[in-house]
Amino acid sequence: GKAEGKGQYRFFDPAQSNILKTRTQLRQRLLEAIDKRQFVLHYQPRVDTRTGELLSMEALLRWEHPQLGMIRPDEFIPLAESSGLIVPIGAIVIDQACAQLAAWRAHGAVPVPVSINVSPKQFLRGSVQRELEDALARHAVPAGLLEVEITESAMMGDQAEILAELAAIRALGVKLHVDDFGTGYSSLSQLQRMKMDVLKVDRSFTAELGRSREGTVFFQAIVSMAHALGMEVVAEGVENEEQLQILRALKCNEVQGYFVARPLPAAGIAPLLEQRYLF
Ligand code: C2E
Ligand code: CA
Ligand code: CA
Ligand code: CA
Repeated sequence: GKAEGKGQYRFFDPAQSNILKTRTQLRQRLLEAIDKRQFVLHYQPRVDTRTGELLSMEALLRWEHPQLGMIRPDEFIPLAESSGLIVPIGAIVIDQACAQLAAWRAHGAVPVPVSINVSPKQFLRGSVQRELEDALARHAVPAGLLEVEITESAMMGDQAEILAELAAIRALGVKLHVDDFGTGYSSLSQLQRMKMDVLKVDRSFTAELGRSREGTVFFQAIVSMAHALGMEVVAEGVENEEQLQILRALKCNEVQGYFVARPLPAAGIAPLLEQRYLF
C-alpha cells in the first residue's frame, strides 16, 4: 500500500511485560491516565472510493504511557468497559474530537466530519447525548461535523435505552454509523427502524474480496441492501489495490484502510486536509 512504512507507530507489546497484567494494576493505571491526560486521538482518513477525496475520518484512541509507550485500545477498552471507567474516558474522547475540529476550523482548514467510537456501556451508565451536545457547544462545532460509531452487536437485543438515546443523538444532527457490520446479527427491519446513516462493513469481509466469489457476492448484497435503505457504505480495512478496484465496481461509497492511510496524529492530518485527494 501507499502508506506503508510511513506513519507507523510502535505500540506497547503486552507479551514483553506483565506490567498491565492484573485487573487492579490496569485499573489503577487507567485512573492515573485519566488524571494525567495520557489519552490522545489518532485519525484515520476515509476517502471517496472513486476519487480518493478525503470525506471523513475516524478518531481512534491511544494511551500514551510515559514509560510503556503507546498502548492499543484493545488492551484497555475491555477493562474500561467492565469497570465503568469508559464513561470518563469516553467523555475525554468526545471533548478531544470537538477540540480538534475547532482547531482545524480556527486554522482555516475545511474540516471533514470525525467519527468517534462509543461503547454501549457509555449509554447505560451516562448520557452520551448530553455530553455530545455540551462538547459541541463548548467548542462551537456544528453537529454535522461529528459522527458516532456503534458496533452492530451493541445495537442488538432491543435495548430500549440505547435506541432512545441514539435517536436523540441523531436529532442533534450527528450521523450514526453501524460499526463492524456483518459480525452481529441485526435484521433489515432493525436497521431500518433505527435509522442508521452509514454501514461500516467489518474488515474480515473486505479481506475476502478477490479471494472468493462468495466474498464478493456477499459484499455486493450488503451494498445493495444499504443503498436500498438509504444508507452509505464504508469498507473497513482496505489493504490493497485489488480490493479497492472491486469496491469501485460494487459502488461502495467510501474506503478506509492501510492502503489509503494509517491512523495518524492530528499533526499528520493537517497536510491531508490541504491535499484533499489521497489517490
Ligand atoms: P474499530 O472501531 O473497528 O477500528 C478500526 C481498527 O482497525 C483500528 O484499530 C484501526 O487502526 C484498524 N485498521 C484500520 N485500517 C486497517 C487495515 O487496513 N488493516 C488492519 N489490519 N487494521 C486496520 P485500533 O485503533 O487498534 O482500534 C481497535 C478497536 O478499539 C476499534 O476497532 C474500536 O472498537 C476500539 N476503539 C478505538 N478507539 C476507541 C474509543 O475512542 N472508544 C471506544 N469505546 N472504543 C475505541
Ligand atoms: Ca469504529
Ligand atoms: Ca470497525
Ligand atoms: Ca472492532
